[in-house]
Amino acid sequence: MSHLAATDPEIAALVVAEEQLQADTLRLIPSENYVSHAVLEATGTVLQNKYSEGYPGKRYYEGQQNIDQVETLAIERAKALFAMDHANVQPYSGSPANLAVYLAFLKPGDTVMGMALPMGGHLTHGWGVSATGTWFRGVQYGVERETGRVDLDKVRDLALAERPKLIFCGGTAVPRTIDFAGYAEIAREVGAVLVADVAHIAGLIAGGAHPSPAGHADVVSTTTHKTLRGPRGAMLLSTEEHAKAIDRAVFPGLQGGPHNHTTAAIAVALKEASGAEFRDYAHQVVANAQALGEQLATRGFELVSGGTDNHLLLIDLSGKDVPGKVAAKALDRAGIVVNYNTVPYDTRKPFDPSGIRIGTPALTSRGIPASEMGTVAEWIDRVVAAAKTGDEETVAKVRTEVKALMDAYPAPGLPVR
Ligand SMILES: *Cc1c(COP(=O)(O)O)cnc(C)c1O
Repeated sequence: MSHLAATDPEIAALVVAEEQLQADTLRLIPSENYVSHAVLEATGTVLQNKYSEGYPGKRYYEGQQNIDQVETLAIERAKALFAMDHANVQPYSGSPANLAVYLAFLKPGDTVMGMALPMGGHLTHGWGVSATGTWFRGVQYGVERETGRVDLDKVRDLALAERPKLIFCGGTAVPRTIDFAGYAEIAREVGAVLVADVAHIAGLIAGGAHPSPAGHADVVSTTTHKTLRGPRGAMLLSTEEHAKAIDRAVFPGLQGGPHNHTTAAIAVALKEASGAEFRDYAHQVVANAQALGEQLATRGFELVSGGTDNHLLLIDLSGKDVPGKVAAKALDRAGIVVNYNTVPYDTRKPFDPSGIRIGTPALTSRGIPASEMGTVAEWIDRVVAAAKTGDEETVAKVRTEVKALMDAYPAPGLPVR
């Protein structure tokens, strides 16, 4: 980074500081990961200098000799990996990708059904504060209070009563397997388009550690930067029937020129995700999350839905008498990075909720095995207890222990110093 350091030492220093932070801390935010050097290199290329409005072979700018090939590689790899007829790799991120889906299938005021945000759904599934909940009529399903899981019979009843044109399944704090076939049956019954938003679990699907929405969902929406371990970006995959509507919605409907450097990095990530090593990674992510869940449960932590089938754990801290935000901030001081999160039927406010959300994608990318999850659970236990009593000595001690484990498992994509 010698050029960056010479031109802008302030930004260069902050990048170096962030590298150090990502190296030294146990990153448990389930939507985050470490990308490979190859993905980072593709992101930082001159491909970003090029304007390419349109699609391969049908551009509005000349000079696409290389870019068309880059995007075609990304498209073909996406289709093959997710077994879908069609792929659009241009959405700037997950939220714009979902907005493009609305543009493809709905008119303002039409009804969309998705999981409520406080139940684990995403803002873009028709939640009130999002454009998707103000320009469209959002109706929302949730999880059961006792099980922490979706009751598909209730989803069906709501769909029959409200007749949505679009149904979203998937979410951002969902620790359990998504029954794509079950949602597809409901969507067919009411004549809705089914969108599987697999932003969180795309890498698990690619690696065979979660069932695939292919053959069930009309449209699959995903970010590329979570478990899929690619650059910040997104993709929309679909059946042949909806290919044109999706493409028209992304461009010219919603976006201008695609981010070609990101497209290249997506292609690289898709290549990586199609290999045997990534299959092992995806399965290890789940094994680590389940081991961590068991270790936390042993220490009296209450897990929403009682555990996990995927990469994510939602912990209700009400029983520990520590608010989620207080716990998250103490954990951050201890070098353990999580986010505070609403739990279903939370009695506290969204900006000060009862839970924390953690996941294993990033630590698994470092090669940390399931046998270390007892240690991780013990750290969380000690810090949450220390947060309650204001015991900063314990917090500092855990930080040292965390650093030692991180040093033993260097993260991919970071410079060795
Ligand atoms: C992360 C996420 C998104 C949005 O992605 P951004 O890239 O943050 O806009 C959409 N849907 C779900 C389910 C997500 O988890």
